[in-house]
Amino acid sequence: NQKVVLITGCSSGIGLALAVHIAKDEKKRFMVYATMRNLSKADALIEAAGRTLGRTLEIKQLDVCDEASIKACVDSLPERRVDILSNNAGIGLIGPIECQSIDEMKTLMDTNFFGLVRLMKETLPDMKRRKKGHIVVISSVMGIQGILFNDVYAASKFALEGFCESLAIQVLRFGLNISLIEPGPVITEFERKVYEEGLKIDLSKADKVTADMFTNIYLKSYKQIFETLGQVPEDVAEHTFKVITMDNPPFRHQTNTLYTPMTTLKYADPGGDLPIETFYKMVFEHDKVFTTSLNFLKLLRWRSRKSFSLDKSN
Ligand code: NAD
Repeated sequence: NQKVVLITGCSSGIGLALAVHIAKDEKKRFMVYATMRNLSKADALIEAAGRTLGRTLEIKQLDVCDEASIKACVDSLPERRVDILSNNAGIGLIGPIECQSIDEMKTLMDTNFFGLVRLMKETLPDMKRRKKGHIVVISSVMGIQGILFNDVYAASKFALEGFCESLAIQVLRFGLNISLIEPGPVITEFERKVYEEGLKIDLSKADKVTADMFTNIYLKSYKQIFETLGQVPEDVAEHTFKVITMDNPPFRHQTNTLYTPMTTLKYADPGGDLPIETFYKMVFEHDKVFTTSLNFLKLLRWRSRKSFSLDKSN
């Protein structure tokens, strides 16, 4: 009677934490197929999985950019059954678009967006037939709101959200659920890789103002934002687990309450200028406002951690 969970991108970060968190469910309600593109990178997952390996967790190869590998993986599951599909694999890209190649952008869309499309094409028909299934997509707050120098990444997450919002209407007819998990900044390999790639960008194709904006404003605040607002992958895993175990899972779920005031600006102004102007002011006009808001958020974070630990001790 176990539910079968298939997760992509489990060699690190959120995918790894989520796979382990679900596999360690005390009631053993789930059988987790933790997949990754390259099985030689399984060490961290093997270590974290501990005794669940071979019991409630199995590792399989799956590259979200390769249809044949997706089919082979799903074919290898008993009755090809997937009850919960968690699309997590993703890559990032920052910088001025003048300095990025169309090929880099296509690779990102191919992974972040078409990865989900391929997985859904392979599993959705079976879910519809069984009238059972939950698709859980690791999106981002950037699936709701664009952020400076994350143009193509945000576009890929918007694409996921539009795709899922459209399909959600159809799948309701079959009793299926779709949930978008929207984390803010999370401290993982992702953040480190993206930052290091950012430092290497050849800015000679960008004008001086843009290059300066990227180096002296964006990259300088990058680390600070992660330090102040960043969650750990286990936090996101815990939130995702709650969504998976709900009777009526929500379509959207943000994991970081400190970030919610920002995304709320989007819904507060149908004209769309409010979030754009607020971000602009935070970044360019009021350096002090930016620092003050970060300090304020640090305080909130400290308080919410305190109340979280109080909740836990109750
Ligand atoms: P991560 O780099 O640790 O994990 C991403 C995983 O995807 C890696 O294990 C990578 O090997 C895998 N992957 C990349 N291309 C793949 C492919 N073609 N096939 C299979 N796997 C592939 O980073 P993370 O932060 O854990 O990212 C997981 C998801 O969370 C991503 O979709 C990311 O967009 C999203 N997210 C991350 C953050 C953040 O700040 N880190 C915030 C919001 C959302």
